[in-house]
Amino acid sequence: MASSIVKTVCPFCGVGCGINLKVDAQGNLTGVEPQRSHPVSRGKLCEKGWSTAYAIRPDNRITEPLKRIHDRFYPVSWDEALDTISETLQDILAESGPESVGVISSARATNEDNYAAQKFARAVLKTNNIDHCARICHSPTVAGLKQTLGSGAMTNSTQDIFETELIVVIGADPTENHSVFGGQIFEAKQRGAKLVVIDPRVTRLAKVADIHVQLKPGSNIALINAMLHVILKQNLHNQSFISQRCDGFDALARNVATITPESVESCTGVSADVIRQTAMLYGQAQRAMILYGMGITQFVSGTQNVIALSNLALVCGQIGRPGTGINPLRGQNNVQGACDMGCLPNVYPGYQAVDDPSVQQKFARAWGTQVATTPGLTSLGMTKATLAGDFRALIIFGEDPVVTDPDQNHVRAAMKAMDLLVVAELTMTETAKLADYILPAASFAEKEGTFTNCERRVQHGSQALQPPGSAIGDWQWLKALAAKLGSDALNWSDSEAVFDEMAALTPSYQSMSYPGIMRAHGLQWPCHPGAPEGTAILHQSTFPIGKARLIPVHQIEIDEAADEQYPLLLTTNRLHFHYGCGSMTRKSPLLEREIPAGILFINPEDARALKIQRYSPVGIRSRRGYVETRAMITEDVPPGLVAMPYHFKEAPSNQLTNTAQDPVTKMPELKACAVSVSPLPPG
Ligand code: SF4
Repeated sequence: MASSIVKTVCPFCGVGCGINLKVDAQGNLTGVEPQRSHPVSRGKLCEKGWSTAYAIRPDNRITEPLKRIHDRFYPVSWDEALDTISETLQDILAESGPESVGVISSARATNEDNYAAQKFARAVLKTNNIDHCARICHSPTVAGLKQTLGSGAMTNSTQDIFETELIVVIGADPTENHSVFGGQIFEAKQRGAKLVVIDPRVTRLAKVADIHVQLKPGSNIALINAMLHVILKQNLHNQSFISQRCDGFDALARNVATITPESVESCTGVSADVIRQTAMLYGQAQRAMILYGMGITQFVSGTQNVIALSNLALVCGQIGRPGTGINPLRGQNNVQGACDMGCLPNVYPGYQAVDDPSVQQKFARAWGTQVATTPGLTSLGMTKATLAGDFRALIIFGEDPVVTDPDQNHVRAAMKAMDLLVVAELTMTETAKLADYILPAASFAEKEGTFTNCERRVQHGSQALQPPGSAIGDWQWLKALAAKLGSDALNWSDSEAVFDEMAALTPSYQSMSYPGIMRAHGLQWPCHPGAPEGTAILHQSTFPIGKARLIPVHQIEIDEAADEQYPLLLTTNRLHFHYGCGSMTRKSPLLEREIPAGILFINPEDARALKIQRYSPVGIRSRRGYVETRAMITEDVPPGLVAMPYHFKEAPSNQLTNTAQDPVTKMPELKACAVSVSPLPPG
């Protein structure tokens, strides 16, 4: 075999940078390089992308199925593992019904794996209990934008930042999370775009912004409503766009009529002058682009926050043209795809509602089986139902909810209480440690498949390496498990066959095929006979719901404010050198050297009052748990606010976080909870 260069997609964030994997004649990975002509990354990678090889290196990989006996794991054959799993599943299904079982798929797995996961849940287990980590990142985006625009995705393309006059980054920290794109925002600013950053923390972009709106956590709606008040008062709204393309303007105008900048100063912590300046800048821009992240979605007000942003963009007609739009920055490299594939309890692939009889008939006919007719449980709903004795078996792949979900003690207790927990993973994670069976999964480089990035670009990744041991791709072991359960529903010959079936049933992917995607650097959905080359900008002349909806929203306070017992507010953040639960990036000595362990960001004023020194150990307590870490004293967080990343299992911020939820999507409020912080003796 000759050495080769294999094209694929970075396995980390939703930017979806193109990478080449260099493979030697013996089939070993010898290097990683950026794809020079890639339309998004344009020949660049961030430190995470460059460290991809470490994430999948063969040492400490799970290479064979493991069965728990008491507190230890023992290797078993695939046959034995799948036989026992299928027998246990059948017993549970017979005793407790399909509502008692479920699947959590992965925003790091391919579209093909995710399509297979939801089909396994729906066509084999007969349940809509299927979910994934979008629940805790962008489920309010899907729900909010679906209501207002008819489609829950980035309206424009990342490269539109070079065509805009004004970039508004709200509740997002792209230089840490979407680093290549974060660098491009700097570049766009250097080329002349104005930059507004709306964030409680002083992020890197906030330091160079034309305006940094340092609002209090959870006051987004009050701020946006006050901006709308100014825009309407100054007649900066786009009347012709509103008349031709929106419904609900009068009710929205009435709602913000009394919400003056002065009236929200104390709620937002932002001066009326700054609110006015920001509103004027947005209202006067010819082309303004909103980029947002989990500082919008991870609140009990998540869906309403998204609706508020949508109102702002629509009222100013900043949708449907280059350099405009409302653009969620998706966290993981295929979180957009996992949502598109229907790994959500209320929708089939392409966001087709599970409780719509015509959709049920469509899928029942295509799959040749009856399907469940009511929406299923969310991931947090499955945890809750387990502790209530109503849920018994869970199959998870590529996710580590013990680290990533709120209130870790509660999640751990639920995982332990299950009658059957199956986890497919690359390495031993905190969730895998609790499993009855661990299945060895193939990494992104060891299988073929597609990934959909945050700008709806569906890209193909080729197989570069052989999986270690007996590891296989997720759709392949799901197919084998389905066969053990007596179903041939997942009986595909290869990844392309999975994709073709999915595309035929998913209107926005309808005209996509492997050859079409591979010819270019991917295609952006919707891609159908009317747009065979895909669509870079959504909603150019119409919305999927006809007219967009302007929906009045009202400020919703955070669930748990600071008080005497817990006097500081904790927010969660991400770090440039790490990703997700850390299971991939922490294998890189380079990345680990940069940020070796957990950290608490605290303002000098609070540190002084609490007698906390730089890098000294601290204990953090909330109503749900206690963790110890070290303090980083910095003015990047304001007094009264502390911040912690969740990448580190040694200092899991999710021991502390609140499970209070957005009532629409069940998104937990990960961005704000009350804590107390105390210094610890040097360890
Ligand atoms: Fe990978 Fe995201 Fe970094 Fe690009 S920006 S190299 S996709 S982690």
